Amino acid sequence: MHDYKLMPKVELHLHLDGSVRLETVAELLNREIVDVEKDMVASDKCLDLNDYLTKFAIAGKVMQTKENLRRIAYELAFDLKKDGVIYAEIRFAPLKHILGGLNASEVVESVLEGLFQVDIKTNLILCMMRGDNEKQNMEVIDLACSFIGRGVVAIDLAGAEAIYKTYDYKNLFEYAKKLQVPFTIHAGEADGEDSIKSAIAFGAKRLGHGVNAIFYPKLLEEIKEQDILLEICPTSNIQTNVVKTLSEHPVRALYDTGISISISTDNRTVSNISLTEEYEQLEQILAFNYDDFVKMNIAAIKHAFLNDKDKALLLREYESLLNNINN
Ligand SMILES: [Zn+2]
Repeated sequence: MHDYKLMPKVELHLHLDGSVRLETVAELLNREIVDVEKDMVASDKCLDLNDYLTKFAIAGKVMQTKENLRRIAYELAFDLKKDGVIYAEIRFAPLKHILGGLNASEVVESVLEGLFQVDIKTNLILCMMRGDNEKQNMEVIDLACSFIGRGVVAIDLAGAEAIYKTYDYKNLFEYAKKLQVPFTIHAGEADGEDSIKSAIAFGAKRLGHGVNAIFYPKLLEEIKEQDILLEICPTSNIQTNVVKTLSEHPVRALYDTGISISISTDNRTVSNISLTEEYEQLEQILAFNYDDFVKMNIAAIKHAFLNDKDKALLLREYESLLNNINN
């Protein structure tokens, strides 16, 4: 097996509040790590996505001050670098972090300050939440717009997909398009055809998960034709019961259709996994090889929320790092 830790990697789908170190939460709440682990790490098999989402509450508690947000972002950037990630788009919902009196801009600034302390390229995607009202979600779009060019690159729609239908958020994506704020959408994870169709109709160039597209050949064609990238997070899909086991995961079939995909962890702590480990499992169980992962990372760079110049720079850096480890 290749040493995937050394391989330069790009991660496009990663939640900040699902990737807070257990030690940090334990220290900040003055609790034992084993107790925090029970509340924060999802079991190998949750009931469904809604069950999995309950694991985020405890991190949310400690992510309410500038100092803690800075620290948590810094630690994640550090962990990413250690995992061999050279570029990451980290997402979180800023309005979840204003309960301690910060305003949403201060929340974003604090996270950016933490990220900037580590020598790794990162950008933020701000999440609107299913279940929040339109006014709140519009605020997230305005916030993203005000930070574009300063560390925020896009917005997302996250949360309970099976309960709150994607189609109901049409106005928000119209508004985002008007403001020229790029977006990805969690779609085709806990819901199926209608959700993916809506996301594509809104103009999403990337889908969070999108794995349920495998059941709809017409959608697969559309995804391929429009070169929409699927942000696939295999371990998370198994925990949320979207897929039974890794050997049954459609990532292999999706990849074989020629659709652009990239691999992410979704949540490093809640899913208790690194990107290196995701690659290792995919190699062992689904026979992906080194060249496949290179191809996926190049697709990820192509679909990153970066301008053409920055994409070209990142691609050059990626290729030269790859050459270095192979020589
Ligand atoms: Zn996600």
